[in-house]
Amino acid sequence: MQVATGKSILNGIAIGPLRIYKKAEAQTTVSSTLTPEEEYARFDAARVKAQEQLGVLYDKALDEVGEDNAAIFEIHQMMLDDDDYLDAVRGILETQGATAEYAASATGENFAAAFAAMEDEYMRARAADVKDISRRVVNVLLGVGDADMMADQPAILVADDLTPSETVQLDKTKLLGFITRHGSSNSHTAILARTMNIPALVGVDFQDEWDGKLAVIDGYNHCVYIEPAPELLSAMEEKRSNDLKQEALLQSLKKKPNITLDGKEIKVYANIGNAGDVGLVLQNDAQGIGLFRSEFLYLDSQDYPSEDQQFMLYKRVVETMAGKKVIIRTLDIGADKQADYFGLDKEENPALGYRAIRICLTRKEIFKTQLRAILRASAFGTVSVMFPMIISVREVRDAKEILEECRAELEERGVAMGNVEIGIMVETPAAVLLADELAEEVEFFSLGTNDLTQYTLAIDRQNPKLDNFYDSHHPAVLRMIRHTIEAGHRHGCWVGICGELGADQTLTETFLRYGVDELSVSPSSILPLRKIIRSLDLSKESQD
Ligand code: PEP
Ligand code: MG
Repeated sequence: MQVATGKSILNGIAIGPLRIYKKAEAQTTVSSTLTPEEEYARFDAARVKAQEQLGVLYDKALDEVGEDNAAIFEIHQMMLDDDDYLDAVRGILETQGATAEYAASATGENFAAAFAAMEDEYMRARAADVKDISRRVVNVLLGVGDADMMADQPAILVADDLTPSETVQLDKTKLLGFITRHGSSNSHTAILARTMNIPALVGVDFQDEWDGKLAVIDGYNHCVYIEPAPELLSAMEEKRSNDLKQEALLQSLKKKPNITLDGKEIKVYANIGNAGDVGLVLQNDAQGIGLFRSEFLYLDSQDYPSEDQQFMLYKRVVETMAGKKVIIRTLDIGADKQADYFGLDKEENPALGYRAIRICLTRKEIFKTQLRAILRASAFGTVSVMFPMIISVREVRDAKEILEECRAELEERGVAMGNVEIGIMVETPAAVLLADELAEEVEFFSLGTNDLTQYTLAIDRQNPKLDNFYDSHHPAVLRMIRHTIEAGHRHGCWVGICGELGADQTLTETFLRYGVDELSVSPSSILPLRKIIRSLDLSKESQD
């Protein structure tokens, strides 16, 4: 057995034979016997044909992966109208007496090299797009159709790289998963794979001898096993079959509204810790992301993540969610979540210490870097921002003021932004008791019941010895929740629960009776919760 690692695009298992796909290099001749005008006319006709093909691909992607994800093909169509691109082609034809094939191919390479050298990660990722459109024009000129990448039998496709158009054209009935040597997890190919729920790994240094061998992509562990040992194979088969069972349950509930028998509708969102979880969010058909714990990005880094790094990551999540709400919680570091480079002092009572919003309001540059990244990502979908560990109105006003400062800075830079809904975590008794005043400042509350239980009961949530005392059904905790929901509603705020208690099915009815508007839970809890919600009848007397 051989094991190779890569970067997983989707948590999932794929089992099957590997099929290595090598792109046939289009043979293009350099010198032409035609005039530059005649060659340009050939190029232009091929360009128009390529745009028609992209229109067909757009329609196909629209059906399979939705409007926002299909938009890449519209962008490709527009790139083929770009004046700089067209001028570059014309220049090569005129100065080198070249063929249209050569000019299109060389322009694609030149632009790709220019994009690849750019600092902005988003622009670097566009190198693949410009190559893709140029290859398409060349293929039209040469009369070459899109290669059939799939064998007759279902297989895991292995390629150096896949363009977005290749990805959307793959025959999904035969595609078990794919592995590429190149490609970033930010690329549109990765986004499409995630959206289509195809287990995939990028950055795998594969070998030609793998062709035809049995393999398992283990997307959960970012690796591929080639000729797996029998025990591992059966463990993976079992994992895969569990995934399929979950999938079957999903199919029956997917797209069904989260509505009780008596017609009360509630939103069910997902909690995530990093961008890689988004596949699971889609797989489980969450209506949005109710808690993106952004601090994991900081915990995974050796140094403060830059604005661009954060922007790319948030944008990826927002784009993949294709217009559904994404609530990004600002940095909640400190206490149990420590990163050395923050240089935080050792504290007697870290849970009551220098953490979350307290760090952000005093180390403003760290906060602003994150807020600018969030605001930039808001141009790509529906983004909300949420501040953790709030205990006073002053803190919320200060945080909002800093957010506005960031907005003004970005406006000055001419950066596009969307509307960003503002909310807070209600996870301290102080926030609960001030809920009426706090609700005047924000548009939503999300109850962090993990911390709220810890602070209400004065029980360290990290201490296993206290497990028996950590009673999340404690009447004081439930009253806090009810009070927060009612206070929020009095002032026009919607109120959700994003702590673990939101997934506690024995309390779902209680929360709905309190009037909660949203429950945000781990992706695997979404379907069971949806099932419960759809079976409740709140018009009947409560059993309790
Ligand atoms: C909570 O406290 O309930 C919460 C959702 O935040 P975290 O668990 O990340 O502290
Ligand atoms: Mg918390």
